[in-house]
Amino acid sequence: MNEFSKDNLIDILEDDSKNDWLFSLADTVRKEHVGDEVHLRGLIEFSNICKCQCKYCGLRSENREIERYRISEDNIVSYAKHASEMGYRTVVLQSGEDKFFDADVMCRIISRIKDLDVALTLSIGERSFDEYKAFKASGADRYLIRIETTDKNLYEKMHPNMDFNNRIRCLEDLKTLGFEVGTGCLVGLPEQTVESLAEDILFFKEIDADMVGIGPFIPHPQTPLNSCEHGSFTLALKVMALTRILLKNINIPATTAMETLNPNGRIIALQSGANVVMPNVTTSEYREKYEIYPNKICIHEEPDKCRNCIEAKIHSIGRTISKDCGFRLKNK
Ligand code: SAH
Repeated sequence: MNEFSKDNLIDILEDDSKNDWLFSLADTVRKEHVGDEVHLRGLIEFSNICKCQCKYCGLRSENREIERYRISEDNIVSYAKHASEMGYRTVVLQSGEDKFFDADVMCRIISRIKDLDVALTLSIGERSFDEYKAFKASGADRYLIRIETTDKNLYEKMHPNMDFNNRIRCLEDLKTLGFEVGTGCLVGLPEQTVESLAEDILFFKEIDADMVGIGPFIPHPQTPLNSCEHGSFTLALKVMALTRILLKNINIPATTAMETLNPNGRIIALQSGANVVMPNVTTSEYREKYEIYPNKICIHEEPDKCRNCIEAKIHSIGRTISKDCGFRLKNK
């Protein structure tokens, strides 16, 4: 029953009459395979400087209207320390593709954060095998790099000067090196088809992703896609629910982009297959500048308040906060 073919996936994605069944099946699979605990990951967006020109992203190098920043090494480590003191067992370091943070700088930061006894996830884009190897040797545990879309043509339209095959190479290298690997896609990119979304889901299964993050595309005013429609919240939720049903015991975040489109988006996602939330642990001075898309939530909040707010929401739906690092559970 839970092994969908591509045609089954397309039918489900196109037909909204069985959405309640789909979301409740995903919730049941989530409960059976990863339980009621929600893993909180403390997110540090440490640099918004980026050499890429992804057409959808507000951090693209051609956007001259945002104020760029890099958080210093010491401050990154202090944010991580504060996250660990607040009870986070995983720290996620995310940035644009910023060459300043080369392997030496990153490895120093990784080792210092690993001294805090937390799991560490990186989300810093495409690097060479040797760089990934150095990150792993310094103690990084996980790596997030979304494929964004498995439609090669669309991928190349959305990512000038980037190569789809290199993205795949990154995912393969990370797996080979023993990282827990996260990927995912955007839902609602211009010209994206339901068929390609079905292929995205099958791709997550094929590479046996340990984590999958799915979010609706949200147009940013200072990008070439500024006049496009945003992606559908419901469709993004359906792609996420199907991913849970197919991959069963992986970690799936209730993404911030979902909450940007629906004020209760993360809680709805947690009840439709998700088991992870990634609250921001930097202070508000940086949050508004990390504008990958507009109207990001919580940009005026401070870290302690964010943590309390999300904890209360999670408890209100009868779920608990995990006290462990939340690695992927072994296959049952
Ligand atoms: N430089 C890193 C991190 C990218 S930002 C990397 O390349 O992996 C993290 C994610 O934000 C991206 O993978 C993308 O899926 C998402 N994102 C970027 N722009 C977006 C937009 N306009 N709407 C929704 N999500 C977006």
